[in-house]
Amino acid sequence: MGGSLLEDHPCLNLDSLNEQGDSPTVGLTHRYQDKALFLATDTCPVYCRFCTRSYAVGSDTEQVAKVAFRVNYDRWRAAFAYVTSREEIEDIVVSGGDAYNLRPSQIEAIGRTLLEIPHVRRIRFATKGLAIMPQKILSDPAWVDAVTTVSEYARSQHKDVAIHTHFNHPAEATWITARALGELHERGIVVRNQAVLQRGVNDDPLTMIRLVRRLGYINVHPYYVYACDMVNGVEDLRTNLSTALRIEKYVRGSTAGFNTPTFVCDLPGGGGKRDAHSYEYYNQDTGIAVYAAPSVRNGEFFLYFDPLHSLSKDVRDRWKHPQERDIMIDEALAEAAARSSDL
Ligand SMILES: *Cc1c(COP(=O)(O)O)cnc(C)c1O
Ligand code: SF4
Repeated sequence: MGGSLLEDHPCLNLDSLNEQGDSPTVGLTHRYQDKALFLATDTCPVYCRFCTRSYAVGSDTEQVAKVAFRVNYDRWRAAFAYVTSREEIEDIVVSGGDAYNLRPSQIEAIGRTLLEIPHVRRIRFATKGLAIMPQKILSDPAWVDAVTTVSEYARSQHKDVAIHTHFNHPAEATWITARALGELHERGIVVRNQAVLQRGVNDDPLTMIRLVRRLGYINVHPYYVYACDMVNGVEDLRTNLSTALRIEKYVRGSTAGFNTPTFVCDLPGGGGKRDAHSYEYYNQDTGIAVYAAPSVRNGEFFLYFDPLHSLSKDVRDRWKHPQERDIMIDEALAEAAARSSDL
C-alpha cells in the first residue's frame, strides 16, 4: 500500500485537491476563473510516490480503484468543447500524466486546437521528462519539433506556450540536462520548474539554493516549490509548513528575484495554490494552517496539516481521538475567523 513508512494523517483522502469535484468533463479541472487543467493522459515516464494525482495517474500500477484518463479522443473533444464554451478560460495546463508520453502528432493536435480557440491565450505542457530523461530531447527530434511548432504558432498568434517541468534536487541537472535545455532554449521554448519539498531530499536551505541556482544556469525558471500534498503513504516525505517558510527565507535573496520560486501550498479541498506565507492562522503546535482563497472560493477556509511525525508526542496522541481532532480544528478555524474579519 504505497510504501506507508509512517502513518497517514487522519485528515487525508485520495484526490486530496478535490480535482474530480471541480471537473465539468472527465479529465478537465476548472477551479480558477481563467485557467483550467486538462489531463491528456494518465501515464508518466516515472511515478512519484507523492503524486497529487495518484487518484488517476498510473492506473496500471496499483490495485486501488483509480479513475482512468487514458488518451481518448472523445474525452479530449468533450474537454475542448467545454473550453470553447467558456470564454473566461485563458490558460490551459496540459498535464496528466505527462506530455512526454504524448506522441508528436498529439502534442500538435492539442496545441493547435487550443490555440485556435480565440479566448485561450496561454498553454503549458507539463512534463517531468526533462528532469529524468533529458536524452529524449536530444534523440527524439519529432517530439521536440512538435513542441517547437506549437510554440512558434503561439508566438505568431501573440500567445504563449511553455513547458512546466519538475526538478526536485540539484543533482538531477546533469551535463545531459544542460545540453537538452540548451536545445530548448535555442528554440525559444520557455521552461519553468515546479519542485516538491521533500523531507530528507531537498528540505534544507543549501540544497534548495543550489537547485534554484542550477535551474537558472540551464534557463529554467524556478516557478513554484510546493509543500508536499497530503496524499496516501507519503508522510515520511512531508515536511511541516514552518520548514517551507524557513527555507524560503534563505532562498529569497540568494539569486535574481525573477528566478526565485514562490513557495506554495495547494490547498486540500480545492482552494488552489496559495503562497505558503499567506495563511490566516497557523498553529505550529497542532500543525494546523488555515488559508482563505477569496478568488477561488470566497468565504471558505481551507486547512493544511503538518505531518504527525513533526509534532510533539502529546499532540500526536490528541490526533488519535476524533473529539480532540475536532477541538483542535475548531480552535484553528475560530482563530482564523477572528483574524480575517475583513474577508
Ligand atoms: C495548478 C493548477 C492550475 C495552474 O495554476 P498556476 O498557479 O497558474 O500555476 C490550474 N488549474 C488547476 C486545477 C491547478 O491545479
Ligand atoms: S511526473 Fe508528475 S504526474 Fe507523473 S507521477 Fe510524478 S508528480 Fe505525478
